[in-house]
Amino acid sequence: MARTALVTGGTRGIGEAICVALKDAGYSVAANYGGNAAAAQAFTGRTGIPAYQFDVASFDAVTAGIQAIAQDLGPIEVLVNNAGITRDGTMHKMTHDQWQAVIDTNLGSCFNCSRAVIEGMRERGFGRIVNIGSINGQAGQYGQVNYAAAKSGIHGFTKALAQEGAAKGITVNAVAPGYVDTDMVRAVPPQVLEKIIKRIPVGRLGKPEDIARTVLFLVADEADFITGATLSVNGGQHMY
Ligand code: NDP
Repeated sequence: MARTALVTGGTRGIGEAICVALKDAGYSVAANYGGNAAAAQAFTGRTGIPAYQFDVASFDAVTAGIQAIAQDLGPIEVLVNNAGITRDGTMHKMTHDQWQAVIDTNLGSCFNCSRAVIEGMRERGFGRIVNIGSINGQAGQYGQVNYAAAKSGIHGFTKALAQEGAAKGITVNAVAPGYVDTDMVRAVPPQVLEKIIKRIPVGRLGKPEDIARTVLFLVADEADFITGATLSVNGGQHMY
């Protein structure tokens, strides 16, 4: 039987590429999204993958959403915590709302979603969790204390949960993308982006498929000896 996978923020950008890679590899995939119903509908039209709307920052919404997915597709054996947002600003201008939204959506979501699936994974003796961190969680980034803190938190979260899951057949790993060509990066002013690309030794932005390939590798049944790792996929921009 195909394993069931949930990709949060799966309807656009990196998440979409992860969904497609998992589907092509034979997984039964559910994508989650936050509020962009038009993008979600277009995604399902393109891929045939069902999309479920719930706010990953809300514990109650996640619990209900994951229950609905389990009813439709079966218990979730592979969880990719990918949903994320930026709300940039230097510390002296950042509002508490900007701080909280980024912490809740990027880091709180990892707790909310993992909590909703972990008991089932423990009972079944199998689970794969991959958390999408960031180069900016590893290296820090001007104007992103909220995002860097959340992503850095993901890397600690990964290592702690990996220790808890190891004896139960559950691996927990992180992927730390560099700059990837998605809506999130297209929001960066072109002159800033040009400077960023000059600092990438490989000489280009990442493609969503570069990240998807890494996730697919980590969730394989055969990858059961890889846990608590962070794989950097950044064109050599930051060697951690
Ligand atoms: P996009 O902005 O292209 O897509 C974000 C996805 O997350 C969308 O599907 C969006 O849904 C969903 N989402 C946002 N907020 C919520 C929420 N509260 N609840 C549920 N879903 C939500 O992002 P990317 O593909 O660029 O990024 C994916 C991940 O990779 C993020 O965690 C990001 O931080 C990380 N990353 C990205 C990098 C890059 O260069 N692009 C670099 C390093 C890390 P909706 O369409 O409804 O808004």
